[in-house]
Amino acid sequence: MAFHGVDYFCVDSLFGEQELMVRQTARRFAEERIAPVIRDCFRDARFPSELIPEMAELGFLGANLEGYGCAGMSNLEYGLIMQELERVDSGIRSFVSVQGALVMYPILTYGSEEQKQKWLPRLQSGQAIGCFGLTEPDFGSNPAGMRATARRDGADWVLSGEKTWITNGSAADVALVWARGPEGILGFLVERGTAGYTTSDIHGKWSMRASVTSSLSFADCRVSDAARLPEARGLKAPLSCLSQARYGIGWGAIGAAMDCYETARQYSILRKQFDDRPIASHQLVQEKLAWMITEITKAQLLAVQAGRLKDQRRLEPAHISMLKRNNVAMALECARLSRDLLGANGITDEYPIMRHLCNLETVKTYEGTDHIHALVIGERVTGVAAYK
Ligand SMILES: Cc1cc2nc3c(=O)[nH]c(=O)nc-3n(C[C@H](O)[C@H](O)[C@H](O)COP(=O)(O)OP(=O)(O)OC[C@H]3O[C@@H](n4cnc5c(N)ncnc54)[C@H](O)[C@@H]3O)c2cc1C
Repeated sequence: MAFHGVDYFCVDSLFGEQELMVRQTARRFAEERIAPVIRDCFRDARFPSELIPEMAELGFLGANLEGYGCAGMSNLEYGLIMQELERVDSGIRSFVSVQGALVMYPILTYGSEEQKQKWLPRLQSGQAIGCFGLTEPDFGSNPAGMRATARRDGADWVLSGEKTWITNGSAADVALVWARGPEGILGFLVERGTAGYTTSDIHGKWSMRASVTSSLSFADCRVSDAARLPEARGLKAPLSCLSQARYGIGWGAIGAAMDCYETARQYSILRKQFDDRPIASHQLVQEKLAWMITEITKAQLLAVQAGRLKDQRRLEPAHISMLKRNNVAMALECARLSRDLLGANGITDEYPIMRHLCNLETVKTYEGTDHIHALVIGERVTGVAAYK
């Protein structure tokens, strides 16, 4: 049955014609191109890289960025794309998030003109893939402690250290790597094949199986000063990239929740138990569906307001923390409830629920854990930082 959207509260009336058109394009692509292959990709732990040129052609890569071949969409349109991609799989949305928000955005914001000319058209068109190396084996929630170093040597820089849990890592033509320089955190564009730079994939994941996740190693890796992002100084540079990605995640999680809700709703009408009655006729089942659609609706309204504020340049990191934290927790709970309502069938990959559930465990952790975003919100409302 075709998906007509999940709109209990006339949220669609908040979108303009252009926004609805972008959503429809992303929805059609996700249904026609990702959905048919995603179960096997997840089973085989394979990212469907054959879809990259089409996503590029549709303007999904760096969609909300201006210039250098980017589509220049509004932040709301970009959010709707994230929602539709993640309605099918968080791993595909992750690829698009990393490419646009974590690689293209910092190059556009902090890069030299030469870096922009060289990389942005290639990243937008999917001819090059990027990754973002911030997390280290001993520093996840607290990137300020990072040990990777950038040492000046004549006209060059020498990078040393390890990054881990890096989406697109081994697939990337260019890694945006953050390292501690003489006067603070610096960002570098390190090309695949640079001497001293190696990658290895992380295997055995039960989550994000249709996404490449790798470790990056830098052993006296020499790059020229032209590889450094000249305008990126201090931790606020990578944190600003995370804000871009977290915004998209806030939308993406709604998509996963919609799929879980709609699957459970349809299943509960068809599945019969006790006197040939649909399980949807039971009050306890309806309560779960009522919880899901209520929470999805609240998440949609939060995301629309976030998108409008972002388009007006009024969206702050503390807003994004609430959006990401609330919407991901909501989606995870929808996945759990949906799995419950599908009974035994809910544990198989005949249905998308366990895949969403497993993926969302990552989405809860990456880009700032649920706890860390609670602390950001807590600091905002009390004025007291409680991270340490
Ligand atoms: C599939 C996948 C893809 C990823 N992709 C990328 C990527 O592309 N680039 C990248 O740089 N990173 C990436 N990450 C890493 C991700 O950002 C980190 O996993 C995340 O920041 C959490 O760090 P950690 O795993 O080290 O957990 P930790 O920081 O060790 O946290 C463990 C637990 O302790 C809690 N905790 C920590 N500190 C506090 C505190 N002060 N108060 C309360 N609770 C606290 C956390 O909330 C969490 O529950 C990815 C991770 C995954 C799983």
